[in-house]
Amino acid sequence: MAPDAAKAKGQKKVNKTGETPRMNIIMFGPPGAGKGTQALRLQQKHKIKQLSTGDMLRAEVASESALGRTIKGIMNAGELVSDEIIIELIGNCIAEPECERGFILDGFPRTVPQAQALGDMLGHMGRKIDHVLVLEVDEEALLARIQTRAEQTKGGRSDDNAEVLKNRIEVYRNQTAPVLPYYEQQGLLRYIDGMRAIDDVTEEIEAILSKAQAA
Ligand code: AMP
Repeated sequence: MAPDAAKAKGQKKVNKTGETPRMNIIMFGPPGAGKGTQALRLQQKHKIKQLSTGDMLRAEVASESALGRTIKGIMNAGELVSDEIIIELIGNCIAEPECERGFILDGFPRTVPQAQALGDMLGHMGRKIDHVLVLEVDEEALLARIQTRAEQTKGGRSDDNAEVLKNRIEVYRNQTAPVLPYYEQQGLLRYIDGMRAIDDVTEEIEAILSKAQAA
């Protein structure tokens, strides 16, 4: 079917291999909003790579490398690891062949300099961010979710407790939420009600992506 006919029928555009076109997505939201859960679902469905800076940093801490030892205390306090370290980490990942079909950034960018550095890196690669999906969740719900996650993972994450969470939310408000106007100017923000059931949130995300692909 010609692209125009597909568009008229509201169908997704497909590339030569019959796959949906590549997409670069940012999952944005406070700690406990469900970014990781939804990013994993997007990875499975669209075959685009989930890049979780939190997971990468936890692996570094677990490896007990010199870098791991430096960042352990920062993470346990709920503070942010330096922009320099994070930008290098993510720069290496997005250049990998596994990100060729696209990626979902989960936990990055968390500061305005990180967002600017990402824009520069993608610009040099002739790529861009397609969507910034913002999961909105009440603060009381975040605390309850983190408590549940702490029970499920049996203390697997040393920053999943009420005291550290309060600081992580504070850090989100002061350093991460200011990233939103940067993407607002580019018309990339898509707000999603993250208070709903996981499947409903997934459905809303898929509807947003399908609509954008059909446009
Ligand atoms: P997360 O798993 O995304 O909640 O991240 C856990 C912790 O890793 C954060 O509280 C920070 O200490 C650190 N971290 C993850 N991503 C970033 C980032 N983009 N910039 C700075 N620190 C980060």
